[in-house]
Amino acid sequence: MKILRFSTAGSAKYGVLEERDRIREISGSIYEHFRFSGNTYNLGEVNLLAPCEPSKIVCVGLNYRAHIDEFKRDISGVPEEPVLFLKPSTAVVGPEAGIVYPKRISRLDYEGELAVVIGKKARDINPDQACGIILGYTCANDVTARDLQKKDGQWTRAKSFDTFLPLGPWIETELDPGNLRIQLLLNNVVKQDSNTHNMIFPVPVLVSFITGIMTLLPGDIILTGTPEGVGPMNVGDTVKVVVEGLGGLQNHVL
Ligand code: MG
Repeated sequence: MKILRFSTAGSAKYGVLEERDRIREISGSIYEHFRFSGNTYNLGEVNLLAPCEPSKIVCVGLNYRAHIDEFKRDISGVPEEPVLFLKPSTAVVGPEAGIVYPKRISRLDYEGELAVVIGKKARDINPDQACGIILGYTCANDVTARDLQKKDGQWTRAKSFDTFLPLGPWIETELDPGNLRIQLLLNNVVKQDSNTHNMIFPVPVLVSFITGIMTLLPGDIILTGTPEGVGPMNVGDTVKVVVEGLGGLQNHVL
């Protein structure tokens, strides 16, 4: 099932995408057993929004070996435990939204990632229970001010500007996250091309590790890390994250 969030006539709604690009509007919460309102829309006539409204976004750094290798001058090898940081909910934007290149930074990088969408309030979850608290998966771009990341020595400022987290296009609820091709295209040129089976810490391990620290709430997002091939974007560029089974998330740099 593909759950999406969209706006039409100035109001935001949730829906399920069905065949022939038809959206059936959801009545009630997507995190509970929901019903349909009876209203339908065509995908082409609505504005897609980020598919959920997270209270927090928990991000994993350095989760693909080949990405660690490309930054090996800056860090010391493969982490023994997941490296976590947070992005604020105010960084989230939807498909086709603009990524604003901040003034006074000198390098803006893309990072294509698989995003996990949490479906239930969760604390201290074992890896073998993880799939039970996951609603589904979507595409993400962990936009990063690389110059500030290096300058600051920690990542909050570099990761937190408004528009630095495109999410979408929808939440796919039936997907095995362990073996998915993940690509990033900049102006239609492939820059990242890997597979989620290359993650050092797979999704169930991440869910267990994170819920051992903090309670996750419905709609919260885990960004699972980016593979090798990260690089800079410039004003006017089009950037697209494509994850197998999830479609594509395209945005423009403003
Ligand atoms: Mg990242």
